[in-house]
Amino acid sequence: MKPIEDRQIKEDDQLYVLHSWSKQKDVDPKIIKKASGIFFWDDAGKKHYDMCSQLVYLNVGHNHPRLMEEFKHIGEVPLSSPGFATASKAELARKIIEVAPKNMAKVFFANAGADSNDHAVKIARMVTGRYKIFSRYRSYHGATFGAGNLSGENRRFTVEPGLPGFIKFETPYLYRESIHFDSEEAAAAFYVDRLNSQILYEGPDSIAAIFMETIPGSNGVLIPPKGYMEGVRELCTKYGILMICDEVMAGFGRTGKMFAVEHFDIKPDIMTFAKGVTCGYSPLGGVIVSQAIADYFDGHVLMTGLTYSGHTVSTQIGCATLDIYKDEHLVEHAAEMGDVLAERLEQLKARFVSVGDVRHIGLFAAVELVKDKQTKEPIIAYGMDYGKDTVGLMKKFVGLLLNQGFYTYSHESSVIIAPPLIITAEQINEAMDLFESALAMFEKEYLF
Ligand code: PLP
Repeated sequence: MKPIEDRQIKEDDQLYVLHSWSKQKDVDPKIIKKASGIFFWDDAGKKHYDMCSQLVYLNVGHNHPRLMEEFKHIGEVPLSSPGFATASKAELARKIIEVAPKNMAKVFFANAGADSNDHAVKIARMVTGRYKIFSRYRSYHGATFGAGNLSGENRRFTVEPGLPGFIKFETPYLYRESIHFDSEEAAAAFYVDRLNSQILYEGPDSIAAIFMETIPGSNGVLIPPKGYMEGVRELCTKYGILMICDEVMAGFGRTGKMFAVEHFDIKPDIMTFAKGVTCGYSPLGGVIVSQAIADYFDGHVLMTGLTYSGHTVSTQIGCATLDIYKDEHLVEHAAEMGDVLAERLEQLKARFVSVGDVRHIGLFAAVELVKDKQTKEPIIAYGMDYGKDTVGLMKKFVGLLLNQGFYTYSHESSVIIAPPLIITAEQINEAMDLFESALAMFEKEYLF
């Protein structure tokens, strides 16, 4: 492709491109001119700390030399339809099973997160012969019609009135729970008991799967209380319901473990993945199924498919990406750097009146802002205009962060912090200094 001037790119973008989740007249995108590691430079020459790994997928950082090199080694047969076996598809499936929980056996490859979740729903329905799917409020599973119905926040209103049989239940969110619990275990028991009632009222024999983000990400890194995931697993086993964990955002090292499910004493029946498997260098997602489900499809037709399932280029990039996690010890590094980030976040909570809560696990974190620490009045009240930032306060804060060179995004009143896993302790501290400067300005100018 010939070089094109920035002015021309922006003009064509404005004329011909539809941008997601936006009023098009409000869209004024920057251009990334140069990128390396945790940094990128925009078309005004400004340097940014990429503190959300683009959309929480760039775990190995920008322009990783091994991945850039891998593109030069795409094999002599760069494509074949899904019915063919290819070296990269076979190898990547094996590599994923090697790092997945022990009960996992096979992989169905999809294109990205949402369609992986759609396929997980179809697989659960095929295997169980049941049709209802439970998923949670305060979750995001993607924008396709199926994944949109799974999602439990305002982005799902775009697919309403929605599909019959998609049932929502509550995500534990202790910071905003009106009931006081003496321990995390007590909270877990409460939520699991409520879920049990809901299952009974819906009829266990009609429920194919309980679908959860292992740790809900975009909705504010809502870490489950101790014993909750195990409790849900027990209910699934008791009623013959499949437990599906969406690891699209939390998987591949983000939480300091290869998969977030490893933080709990559970083995899901199905896991979905995308983002970190290739770190976005080429689109790829997939569904990992247990041995029991894999066995089921030995004798039953897997009634689904995608033209690009297991695409050769993406799976080759996936193989190289998984090698990088291993060779650079990125998962262990994420856990160590998570401690550095955690310390800064806890200090933030202690020092700033507008920080209501901080939640963190590995390099997966959220800062929840409030107008009043005592009453926990949120910056944006959920349920008010579907959680939209009508006065634009969170937008203003994200803008202040951007001016400081701290690139990230927010959801309701929470700001996501999820840098590439290659980040160093020094870089975390530099970036968090920028965060603090922006927060001080925000409090002074807009809050108190
Ligand atoms: N699941 C989770 C947990 C996600 O965070 C996302 C996207 O952010 C998706 C699914 C959808 O993935 P995609 O946008 O690749 O379809």
